[in-house]
Order: sequence, then structure tokens, then C-alpha cells
Amino acid sequence: MFDALSEKLQATLADVRGRGTLTEDDIKKAMREIRLALLEADVNFKVVKEFTNTVRERCMGADIVGQLNPGQQVVKIVHEELEALMGGQSGDIVFSPRPPTVILMAGLQGSGKTTATAKLAKFLQKEHGSSVGVAACDVYRPAAVDQLVKVGGQVGATVYEQGTDRDPVDIARWALDQAKQDGKDVLIVDTSGRLHVDEKLMEELKNIRTAVRPHNILLVVDAMTGQDAVNVAEQFGAAVNFDGVIMSKLDGDARGGAALSVKAVTGKPILFASTGEKLDQFERFHPDRMAQRILGMGDVLSFIEKAGEQFDADQAAEMERKLRQNDFTLEDFLQQLKMIRKMGPLTSLLGMIPGFAGQQLKGMKVDEREMDRVEAIILSMTREERRRPELIKGSRRLRIAKGSGVSVQQVNQLVKQFAQMRKVMKQVGKGKMPDMAALMRQ
Ligand code: GDP
Repeated sequence: MFDALSEKLQATLADVRGRGTLTEDDIKKAMREIRLALLEADVNFKVVKEFTNTVRERCMGADIVGQLNPGQQVVKIVHEELEALMGGQSGDIVFSPRPPTVILMAGLQGSGKTTATAKLAKFLQKEHGSSVGVAACDVYRPAAVDQLVKVGGQVGATVYEQGTDRDPVDIARWALDQAKQDGKDVLIVDTSGRLHVDEKLMEELKNIRTAVRPHNILLVVDAMTGQDAVNVAEQFGAAVNFDGVIMSKLDGDARGGAALSVKAVTGKPILFASTGEKLDQFERFHPDRMAQRILGMGDVLSFIEKAGEQFDADQAAEMERKLRQNDFTLEDFLQQLKMIRKMGPLTSLLGMIPGFAGQQLKGMKVDEREMDRVEAIILSMTREERRRPELIKGSRRLRIAKGSGVSVQQVNQLVKQFAQMRKVMKQVGKGKMPDMAALMRQ
């Protein structure tokens, strides 16, 4: 996501950062490059113009011309303005003091509305502990009702549906009654989309809005469609108004234009980002983190949040104790490996760490197959062998190699590497810095 834009902005800023002093011409040149990068990323041209004007003025006003090391300040200004462009702060759903809180989902057909309905249900259950019902009011798209029954069921939401023969406005009204009776905290209403914004679609949305009086109207916008998405959002805004955007398909090769323009053009913030077809690939949208990611400063907070979901404090403390006391076995190693892998593909995780983003990541391939192999080897060992890898010799080595489909050398290598790792840990545990040079020679 945003790869090309990230790369160009990072290159421009690296150039600026690399200079001792900056002249007015340097800043002008940098702004020209930033302008081009944003236009190529399909950001609305008015937005680009305003953005570069603001950044240029701030750079000039900040009196950085002629100063020593001014590049850092330019980066800071670009970062702050990118963040502001996407809305500054992250927003949230408005909860009604009298449940159920009603959320109306709007958007074009194919934008990812039905998927987002289930994802949002899952998110609210998890983040707010809400009990959630979803209403199937998209009666026009073939199979939309069945799809919602399926994905809604998968996330554990109650699906209110009445097939496709009833009027969607009636279904919405009925679903709200049901949700009240069932004591739901939240009702999310999936509505139908069309291929284009048209009178009928808007009319129906307005009627549903009157029927259920939503506390939030969320527009689902497909990030892959760039400026078209922003135009659609503008049209929706003019007709029914909405409170916030769910930007879908941010995992694809979206150039970034929609995400960067939609707030400036419609005045409505992006509240959530949908980043894949799986139902947990959905997160709150944080403009600051997104700006950092675009500028290759990494997304440490998202990384920590993700890590926090997998490692609990007790586990972490136990691991640390083991490391210090040199009790760490291949069994623990396997457990750690599994936890790390649960967090998602390694390359996407590394992309969130500053220093790994952008260029560096390109040249660096994390070989997931290598990890598969390591896992297979450890799984072929007995418990005793995992605890005391020094036992692994001769026939044991052969058995493990056969069991995991690797060569004896590969088993050897793993055992040797693990022994090295233990040695380092032992030194660190004793408070000594490991002798890296010696380790490299081995
Ligand atoms: P609707 O017509 O607006 O209800 O659209 P759907 O929810 O059926 O989504 C249309 C297609 O986009 C489906 O194939 C979804 O699996 C896919 N989709 C939805 N959200 C995302 C996303 O965030 N990333 C990716 N890659 N695909 C998505």
C-alpha cells in the first residue's frame, strides 16, 4: 500500500535531510517533487496544491533556510501536514446512551460494505464488548443476504434477515425492533449499493435513515478506485451526508490518493481501515501512524499493539526468566516462533518497524519457508531432545532429518545455531555484552 508514494517522498526527504543547509531553491525543488509524487499517487489536485503551499509556507516561515541541519524540520513539517490532511486525530463511533446504537452502512456495490459490516461487528464486540446485531437490507445484489448471514455468523453477530422479497426499509425497521428486543448494544444496517450513485439509491438510503434514525452513517469507500472513490464520497455527502469513512482494500496496491484526499474533499474523517479479506483485517484508522508509515518512519504503535495481542505479560516475564537463567529450550523457541507467526507475515510486521520500512525492506526477503523448515525440524524432535539439544547426535539426527524432510546438515545447522544463541543469551543474562566479533567468525 502506498509503496510508490512512500518511496518517492522518502527519496525527496532523504535528499533534503542529507544537506547541511537549505536554500529557498532547495525547498522549492523538494516541494515540486512532493507535488509530483502526490499527483502520481492520485491525490486530488486541489488537495495537492493546498498541501504543498502549506508545507512550503511553513518551511519558509520556520526560518530553516540557511540553518544547519534544517532537513529534519522539513521532514517534521511534511509529517505533520500529512497527518492533518488525513484528519489529525483518529475518530470513533458515536454511541447512543440508549442502545442499540444504530450504524448505517452506505457505499457503492463492490466497495466492501457487506464485508465491512461483519468486520465492524467483530471490532465492536472485541474493543467495546458490545453485543451486535446486523441487518441484511441489501436485497438487490445477488447473494448479499446470504453473504451477510455467513460472515455475520462467523463473527458471532446476530443476523436479522428476511430474504430478498421484502422492502429494505421494512426490513430495517423490523431489524431495529428485533435488536431492541434482544437487548443489542449495536445494530449495523447493511444497505444496498449500486454501480453508480443514482436517485433510487439515495432515495432508499434516506428512507432507511428516516426509519431507523442512525447515530452513525458510515460510507465504505474502495481505496483501489482512487479519485473515483473521492467523487463518490462527495456525491454521497451531498445527498445523505455521512459521519465517517471506512476505507476498504487498503491492502491492495492502492496508490494512496483516496485515503489522502477524502477528508479534505468531504470534510469527513476516515474512521476505519479494512486491509484484507479476512474478517479480523480491520483496524481503527490513525492519521499520525499512517503519515509515519508513508514517510517510512515505521508504525511502531501498531506493531506494539499487534504484539501485545499475542504476548501477555506473564508469558513475556516467564520467557525473560528462562533466558536469564539459561533455561531456554528448543521447545520455548518453537513456542516463540509460533507466536511471532501468529502476528502475520513477517514482512508486513517488519514494515511497521522504523528503519525497516521502504527501501530496506525491498532488498530483504524474510524466508517464510526457512521458518517452516525450522518448525518442522523441532516438531520432529522428542520432548527430551527439545529440552537437551546436546543429545541430538548420530541416529537421532538422522531420524529427525527424515521426519522433517530435511538433510542431516540442516538439522546440524539448527542445533548449532541454537547452541550459539544460548551462549549469547547466557552472556547477556550475566550482564556482559556478547562478543559479536567472535560470534561472526563462527
Ligand atoms: P459490497 O457489494 O459492498 O457488499 O462488497 P463486498 O463486501 O461483497 O466486497 C466485495 C469484494 O471485495 C469481496 O470479494 C470482498 O472479499 C472484497 N473485499 C472487501 N473488503 C476488502 C479488503 O479490505 N481487502 C481486500 N483485499 N478485499 C476486500
